[in-house]
Amino acid sequence: MQSYTFNTREELISAVRDHYKQQGVVTTIKRSDSKKGKVIFGCDRSGKYRNRVSLTEDTRQRQTSTRLTECPFEVKGKRQLVDGQESWSVFVVSEEHNHEHGVNLIGHPYVRRLSSEEKTTIHSMSLSGIRPSQMLSYLKEEHGNCNAIRSTIYNELTSIRLEVLDGRTAVDTLLHVLRNGPFEFQVDFRNGCIANIFFSHKKSIELCRRFSTVFLLDCT
Ligand SMILES: [Zn+2]
Repeated sequence: MQSYTFNTREELISAVRDHYKQQGVVTTIKRSDSKKGKVIFGCDRSGKYRNRVSLTEDTRQRQTSTRLTECPFEVKGKRQLVDGQESWSVFVVSEEHNHEHGVNLIGHPYVRRLSSEEKTTIHSMSLSGIRPSQMLSYLKEEHGNCNAIRSTIYNELTSIRLEVLDGRTAVDTLLHVLRNGPFEFQVDFRNGCIANIFFSHKKSIELCRRFSTVFLLDCT
């Protein structure tokens, strides 16, 4: 990678990731110091395997040690301040690897990760009731380098749901939305359960009052 300059740390990080991803290398942030304006990238096999729970070769179930090879690959990002204006430059320390690389990364969980832009897209699509399979085809078409698979979308939808629920049940969340949103509503409870619920967007009521000659109802 040649010496490039970026406006922000985020731009630099995503450019470095994309650049090396094309070469079949997954980069990770090894160290980062926001005060000094430094970020150091390694490859995903830069680390050294640490035997944290004293497993022996016999007791360990997975061959974890083989993934980390203390690979020397290293790229640095550094911040400059000129007249209070920050910019970020990339410096290549070493593009050498001590392991095989450049293979197809499709199977690597890292490259399936969604960018924040893709996450936002999924979020707004989920609000419009678009199906996960349609979301996936859209992302593949619109975001050329999206390597997500079905489970990536499902996992994201689950985390959106958990975030929306915020520890509440679905019914509590519904009542919360109705109380805090632009809705007119009425709920009847029987034995602590919802027996009837009516709600309408205030705009719908306004439209109803203005155009009340013909009603088309689609009832479920
Ligand atoms: Zn490497």
